Amino acid sequence: MLFEVINNKLVPSKHGSRISEHTILEQPLNTSFNFSYDLQQFLQGRLLLIDGIPFPIEVIQEHFEQGYVKYHYGVNKVKGLITCKRCGTQNLFASFDCARCKMNCTYCRKCIAMGRVSECTPLVSWEGPVSNFVYENSLEWDGQLSKAQAAASFEMVETVTKHSDLLIWAVCGAGKTEVLFEGIEAALRTGKYICLATPRTDVVIELAPRIKKAFPEVEIQTLYGGSQDPRTLAPVTIATTHQLLRFYKAFDVIIVDEVDAFPYSFDAMLQRAVQQAKKEHSSTIYLTATPTPNWKRKIEKKQIQAVTIPARFHGHPLPVPELAWIGNWKKYINNKKLPPILEDWLVKKLRNNRQAFLFIPSIDLLEKILPLVKEVSEKIEGVHSRDPLRKEKVSSFRAGHIPILLTTTILERGVTVPSTEVAVLGADDPVFTESALVQIAGRVGRSAADPTGEILFFHFGKTKAMLDAKKQLESMNKAALKKGMLK
Ligand SMILES: [Zn+2]
Ligand SMILES: [Zn+2]
Repeated sequence: MLFEVINNKLVPSKHGSRISEHTILEQPLNTSFNFSYDLQQFLQGRLLLIDGIPFPIEVIQEHFEQGYVKYHYGVNKVKGLITCKRCGTQNLFASFDCARCKMNCTYCRKCIAMGRVSECTPLVSWEGPVSNFVYENSLEWDGQLSKAQAAASFEMVETVTKHSDLLIWAVCGAGKTEVLFEGIEAALRTGKYICLATPRTDVVIELAPRIKKAFPEVEIQTLYGGSQDPRTLAPVTIATTHQLLRFYKAFDVIIVDEVDAFPYSFDAMLQRAVQQAKKEHSSTIYLTATPTPNWKRKIEKKQIQAVTIPARFHGHPLPVPELAWIGNWKKYINNKKLPPILEDWLVKKLRNNRQAFLFIPSIDLLEKILPLVKEVSEKIEGVHSRDPLRKEKVSSFRAGHIPILLTTTILERGVTVPSTEVAVLGADDPVFTESALVQIAGRVGRSAADPTGEILFFHFGKTKAMLDAKKQLESMNKAALKKGMLK
């Protein structure tokens, strides 16, 4: 045994080496042991620092000896390679003089916000039986799925039942949340623990009431940075992707929303967190409106089962962007003038009473352009990630008080305002990738009452990203038409 209890603390045993190739310490399960129900409730499906578990250390140690609890080395050194067991990083460490092991002890800086994991820190997981639940008919939603939604919903139910994986490629405005309902119900019917993970806190906050309304009898837990630590594993967890690091072999079904979203598509941490948080036999459902090239390759090579929802829930085709040459617009801006084509566009929108987003490549440029557009109308505003009034301005735009809102790519996703049009100034800037442009176009025509609208890509030279974005939207429309999913 490499950990032992001394003075009410679990410390590395003097008899064992702190630096070990064993990452997991476990004992065979004694099935006749009368385990603590409270400890099971607290610990099941989670991976916690020993100090964060509000039970006497002797109780934890006893459960370890009976095989109900596993200890994991928090930070593991094998042949010079250091790995954090919780977040998986291999390159963000520091060291300190440690009171527990009385040595210079390496700790992980990457996940320190969740408490310090160091070489001598045992992370604790539950290895005994987990509590069961069954919800027979939990879905109380009387809406109607569109033909496109129904096809994807069917695939998801199959996936959940077969413990396989699925990628759902759903266009912006497809109504992907409703597509998940039948799959969630099927999982709950067989006592499966479900997690819905999304990269952004505002999506957690927005999704939670909709899921709760559809499943009023089901216990649902929401988790995001700043929310309370989970007390026990709920049948349904809605969490930011980062929160997955708190779980270990917890979920039978993990739904990962916006798999392509920054920063997670670039972060191996997500993939690892998903692997660690799900059970051995489980399903992962990936959702995206704009798959990365990597995901597209996986689909082509049939490395992942995929289903496309090429049509919006309202059955109208996706509005397709127009590419509009605007000349050397930066030169105008540097001379404190608006390019005439842009000025005409602003005037036209204001005259026709059409609300619009104007996307700008950077905060710097946005701040230069804002005073110039304010000469056209005082009511025009701008937002970016460093703007303290960002939330207020977006709600003011929603309420119709701001006719045109200048924005950086921060509003490319998530913000849905009916009857909005968009233009991108400098659509040829590298910040506007194919995905970003498809997402931006996806802001337009979202409501059934007003399903069309203008999308303009102002450019000083067409890029592949612009052409590919347009092509992607057109091919979705073609596919939807072919499958009879359009009105
Ligand atoms: Zn870490
Ligand atoms: Zn230590």
